[in-house]
Amino acid sequence: MGKKGKEIVGLSVNELIVRLNKAYADEWLAYYQYLLGAKVAKGPMREAVVSELEEHASDELRHANMLTERILQLGGVPVLAPEDLHKESNCGYDKPEDPYVKTLVKQNIDGERCAIDVYTKLADFVKDKDPITYNIVLEILKDEIEHEDDLESLQEDMEIMK
Ligand code: FE
Ligand code: FE
Ligand code: MG
Repeated sequence: MGKKGKEIVGLSVNELIVRLNKAYADEWLAYYQYLLGAKVAKGPMREAVVSELEEHASDELRHANMLTERILQLGGVPVLAPEDLHKESNCGYDKPEDPYVKTLVKQNIDGERCAIDVYTKLADFVKDKDPITYNIVLEILKDEIEHEDDLESLQEDMEIMK
C-alpha cells in the first residue's frame, strides 16, 4: 500500500493482517461448506434450502475477495496454501456428511454465529483506527447477520411443517 495510506492506519498493521487472514480462511471454508451442502441436501423444503445455501456460498466467496484485496493493499500475503485454511480459521469447518436439510441448516447457523462474533470483534479492533477496513468489516457483518436470520427462518418453517 502507499506510504500515506499505511500511515493513516492507527494500529499494528501486522496484527491486522493476521486477523484479516483468519477471517479470510473462515470465508473460504464457509464457501466450501455452503457449496457442498447445496449439492448434497435432502429432505423437506429442499429447493428453498438449496437456493439459500447457494446464495450464501456466493456471498462468502465475495467476502473472501473483499478480505484478500484489503490484505494485499496493507502489504500482507493472503493464506497461500489450502491446507493452511483450517489451521488459520476461527470458525473451522463442519463437514456436510449428513445430507438432511435440518442438520445442514443447523451447522450453517452455528457457522454464521461464529462469523458474527469474529466480525464484531474485528469491527471493535479497527473502529476509529482504520476506516477502510472498518467499512469492509461492517459490510460483511451485515451479510452474516442476514445469513443467520435467513437460516433461522428456514429452520422455523421446517419445524412448522412436521
Ligand atoms: Fe462471510
Ligand atoms: Fe455468512
Ligand atoms: Mg440469504
